[in-house]
Amino acid sequence: MSDLSVCNGTKLGLKGVYTLIIRFAQPCKTRIRDHRSAVIGRGLYLYTGSALGAGSSSLEARIGRHLRRRKKKFWHIDRILACKSARVVSVVFAETICKMECKVNAALLRDSHTSALFARVGSSDCRCSSHFLLAKQSLLSVRRRVRAHYREEGLAPQVVGKPRTVFMANSRQLW
Ligand SMILES: [Zn+2]
Repeated sequence: MSDLSVCNGTKLGLKGVYTLIIRFAQPCKTRIRDHRSAVIGRGLYLYTGSALGAGSSSLEARIGRHLRRRKKKFWHIDRILACKSARVVSVVFAETICKMECKVNAALLRDSHTSALFARVGSSDCRCSSHFLLAKQSLLSVRRRVRAHYREEGLAPQVVGKPRTVFMANSRQLW
């Protein structure tokens, strides 16, 4: 586990790229996009995004928003995370001022242990096949591989194992 600069609450408003590791304890039927319903099966999934703004558009605020249950459903990922059986169990992130989400996502897509089961989720404004990927390994292995892909892209990944504790508390003052 990393010693996180955001943990101490002194450094807020980071910019960067992040990957949510989401566990579905049970299958969930939901409308992800285009009003079509889909069933997300049990397992671990990855969602990669970036937050390059300040305040409510900062990295901590964005991740904090993903973790909040009550919010307007704005993005595809909001509908996915609204599933009762979905829980963000880990977050990998790296500070950067560059738009790295598609590069990281592409690296994750090339990984033989991931697959884009649901097309065009979270990728309305890019060319990626999807930003929501199934990860077919244990949490430990998934975390390790995600970190390795971050490093391949020249990033310095940090891992948060208890995202609710870290991001809910620290991002509150940014909302
Ligand atoms: Zn993309």
